[in-house]
Amino acid sequence: MAQCRLILLFASLSCLAVAIVDASAGDSDPIYKGKNASNIVNSLLMGSPLMVHGIYKNHSISVGNNGTAAVTVDINGGRKEKLGDTPVKYHGKWPFKRVYGIQEPVSVALSALNLAMQFHGWVSFFILVNYKLPLRPNKKTYYEYTGLFHIYGLLAMNCWLWSAVFHSRDVDLTEKLDYSSAVALLGFSLIVAIMRAFNVRDEATRVMVAAPLIAFVTTHILYLNFYQLDYGLNMKVCLGMGLAQLLIWAIWAGITRHPSRWRLWIVVIGGGIATLLEIYDFPPYSGFVDAHALWHATTIPLTYLWWSFIRDDAEFRTTTLIKKAK
Ligand SMILES: [Zn+2]
Repeated sequence: MAQCRLILLFASLSCLAVAIVDASAGDSDPIYKGKNASNIVNSLLMGSPLMVHGIYKNHSISVGNNGTAAVTVDINGGRKEKLGDTPVKYHGKWPFKRVYGIQEPVSVALSALNLAMQFHGWVSFFILVNYKLPLRPNKKTYYEYTGLFHIYGLLAMNCWLWSAVFHSRDVDLTEKLDYSSAVALLGFSLIVAIMRAFNVRDEATRVMVAAPLIAFVTTHILYLNFYQLDYGLNMKVCLGMGLAQLLIWAIWAGITRHPSRWRLWIVVIGGGIATLLEIYDFPPYSGFVDAHALWHATTIPLTYLWWSFIRDDAEFRTTTLIKKAK
């Protein structure tokens, strides 16, 4: 959760970086400006070797060009490459080299690895709480946050699945699925952070905390999908939720006597350093590895560490509760 929470924080920070830059250098290109919708669709069918993507997009993309605008970039990116110019961004996106039609092969591979890492973390957590640790007389786990982390694991895997799809092919639908999954995960991990850090174990209090947040996140997702995919607004929402949980974990890790708090510290600090990759944005090296791809690489070890913290926490809580019962 911290990991994906961080991921989303960085995603939002990256959106912020783009919002500041706003119009990309390539947007003023006369050829780019001259493209109309049908040309764009034709270019898409042609499947050019260079392509752009982005978690970065500025707000000025009109609805009609959304997604398809990337193809125009593609053509111009290719033209620029041939002229030997340094790559420029179009609509906040770098040109990438495609592999078998995959727009950003490195980001896709890394998203898949993140997905595998989340799956490994979740399965090992499942085995630990259900088969390795003792159960209560009613067959439920001693760990009070089991259900929350199961939902977290599913949302995280869902998030990386759509990230891989989105980086394979950036169109309206894949973009919305990716953004929605990310927002859902970020919102849920904020709920988990509050529950765990404040030791919210009573059912009624949990509902009181979760209900307004779930309502807010649901409304935001519906707004993005069915009213307007507002990148600026989404950035603010993600940044707010991301910073809130980062702060909660950082403060909690600082004051708790938890035996595995150092893992939490590494996740928080490592996440902070990784954020710099999204802020310090550079063009794709050899047309493949950009800052965003590197950032996806950093989340892999952080995910491992994060799930090992959750497993430690489950063990720690179980031992404490059994001792108390005796
Ligand atoms: Zn990504």
